[in-house]
Amino acid sequence: MTLTVTFWGTRGSVPAPGASTAYFGGNTPCVELRTGTNALLILDAGTGIRHLGYSLLERAGGKPIVADILLSHAHWDHIQGIPYFTPLFGAGHEFTFRGAPALLGGIEYALRAQMTAAVFPVTFDAFRAQVHFRALNEVERGDGYALKTTPLRHPGGATGYRITDGNSGAPALVYISDNELGNAEGYSSAPGWRDELVQFVRGASLLVHDAQYTADEYERHRGWGHSRYEDVVDLAIDAGVQRLVLFHHHPERSDIALSEQLAACQKRVSEKGARLEVLAAAEGTTLTV
Ligand SMILES: [Zn+2]
Ligand SMILES: [Zn+2]
Repeated sequence: MTLTVTFWGTRGSVPAPGASTAYFGGNTPCVELRTGTNALLILDAGTGIRHLGYSLLERAGGKPIVADILLSHAHWDHIQGIPYFTPLFGAGHEFTFRGAPALLGGIEYALRAQMTAAVFPVTFDAFRAQVHFRALNEVERGDGYALKTTPLRHPGGATGYRITDGNSGAPALVYISDNELGNAEGYSSAPGWRDELVQFVRGASLLVHDAQYTADEYERHRGWGHSRYEDVVDLAIDAGVQRLVLFHHHPERSDIALSEQLAACQKRVSEKGARLEVLAAAEGTTLTV
């Protein structure tokens, strides 16, 4: 049994379309996850979910689409694709928005508020699919998967996921978008937060992690809730991860610049004598876990 992961949106903060970002992609975060039993989980609903919607309709061939949409938090770049997710307008489909209990109220508020008259012509109630909101517990079991959550270091809070095959408990995908690994004030995390995070990530087959900043950029954006490349590589090494996928790319990072950062991360791995494969998330690519 395997988990299949497809990247529909990889960019952080704001969509960044254009010739210079065409390879890694300009859509904001959205990841499709298929379990070994073919159940569908959607991780975040940035603009990448628009194309996912068309793909799901095509693959479903008229049959109902059922999915849980796990939202790491309600910042704009993680929800702004929802009004353009076409299956929500179709009767017979069923979607459950899920978030950590402390964030779920804010998530529902934000999803509805981004479809009010001042900012959008169609209201949230126009969706003809069945729509539910349900809190995500710290530990969950679903169709073909088991899931654990962890709070992240991000302004307003965000949630990371560890998702494993439901039967074997392995291998694991860890999805951590919008997380600050550097030292910054303003988070309620306990002093041992990094050790706890290493434990959470420990032994993952695939770690998808926020990698928004270079070291220079980070100094100008400390406390904004994102990580520099070096810290992400070190976390993956310390946790014994097999494959690290850099994610939530800076909107100004061109394909060429991102390739250079990726090469620098790979160099850091070899300098430390570690065994870790490092990739950068690219829109339209599929990985199996
Ligand atoms: Zn974000
Ligand atoms: Zn955010």
